[in-house]
Amino acid sequence: MALTGMQIFKLLPKTNCKECGVPTCLAFAMNLASGKAELESCPYVSDEARAQLEEASAPPIRQVAVGKGVRAAKTGGETVLYRHEKTFYNPTLFAGLITADTPAADVEARLKVWNAVQFERVGLNLRPELVAVKDVNGDRDAFAALAKQVAETSEFNLVLMSEDDGVMAAGIDACRFKNPIIYAATEENADTFGRLALDSNLPLGVKSDSIDGLIALSDKLTGMGLKDLILDPGSREVKQALEDQVALRRAALKGGNRSVGFPTINFVCEMAVNLDMEALIAGMYISKYGGIIVMSDLATEAIFPLLLERLNIFTDPQRPMTVTEGIFEIGNPDENSPVLVTTNFALTYFIVSGEIESSKVPAWLLIKDSEGLSVLTAWAAGKFSGDDVGIFVKKSGIMEKVNHTELIIPGYAAAIAGDIEEELPGWTITVGPRESAHLPGFLKSR
Ligand code: SF4
Repeated sequence: MALTGMQIFKLLPKTNCKECGVPTCLAFAMNLASGKAELESCPYVSDEARAQLEEASAPPIRQVAVGKGVRAAKTGGETVLYRHEKTFYNPTLFAGLITADTPAADVEARLKVWNAVQFERVGLNLRPELVAVKDVNGDRDAFAALAKQVAETSEFNLVLMSEDDGVMAAGIDACRFKNPIIYAATEENADTFGRLALDSNLPLGVKSDSIDGLIALSDKLTGMGLKDLILDPGSREVKQALEDQVALRRAALKGGNRSVGFPTINFVCEMAVNLDMEALIAGMYISKYGGIIVMSDLATEAIFPLLLERLNIFTDPQRPMTVTEGIFEIGNPDENSPVLVTTNFALTYFIVSGEIESSKVPAWLLIKDSEGLSVLTAWAAGKFSGDDVGIFVKKSGIMEKVNHTELIIPGYAAAIAGDIEEELPGWTITVGPRESAHLPGFLKSR
């Protein structure tokens, strides 16, 4: 159970030395209780107090590290029920399912396709993280061979799926270097699977048909010393699945129930008859509150909208999405190509760059930091003033890339044209269209 600010205060040194960045130990205690401070900021906590405080300052949903390498990720670590209360931290992870009876050539082909499912958005690489390797008929050689093939020939990390400890041990041996998730400990095999996870120091999936069953299993496994659990409440029907997700999250956050304070794993591949339906159900899990989603396929038409939904749900609602300030090339521009400038609100960037692209006129797009505000708002807030834009253009380096001196500004920022001209003597400031949709016509007509 989380400690209150006063309970935390009693465990602190009470010297008010200020080294943690706040004036008093009491202020630090309050920040720690509300999740606004890290325990590491105070160097003087005793070991005994640290043990108690680490428990108190841990998020109510444990954060579990998944995998190794470029697709390593974290799941869990959440602190709120609703995104607008603060933010959701660790995005839902996606896994594609491959069964152990799949021929190696088909596995290779599938991995090649899945590996190519990557999209650049807002400077981020959006892609799935995992492959779920599923045992068929207890064939440990086939299971181990598939785990090895996935681990060694792809970037993906793994979820190993078997309820047979011999099969699971073979799978772990084949891909241990990727830190796979072991799935799943059940009522029948909890002792052996708990021991396997402990000995191999790997995260363990826990499956039961009810939340009460999950709590009993979770208590048993944490009693054995396991820390990194991932829960599967067993629900494979949409309404029940949603109720279970909400009940688990609410019990952990509002009820302080540590037994269910773990991320979840969800098998939409067992909940639908086709991939379209799987994608719809996966969309629900992204919002409420899936840690890992296992799908039968990671085909672009299914995974792309889910990656975008994930991107939006797991951004901080108190901070607009932004694009890095700088020069963006659209369609191989040269020294004669037009130069446009706009703000760094991600949506503005996407819309403007998309319209320039569709115009087929190669161009240089300058993105100026406006703290994530759109053009009109940034101008009104003084974040896109003529002086600032002029200085930014000078510093951006665009003058070394073009042999002309014309800058196209957004129509909504027409009022700053004069100030830019003063900052950029000799330049022609052209006011572009107000609406991005008119950009293609504007650019083509020049
Ligand atoms: Fe108190 Fe520790 Fe902060 Fe110093 S660093 S004021 S001892 S909480």
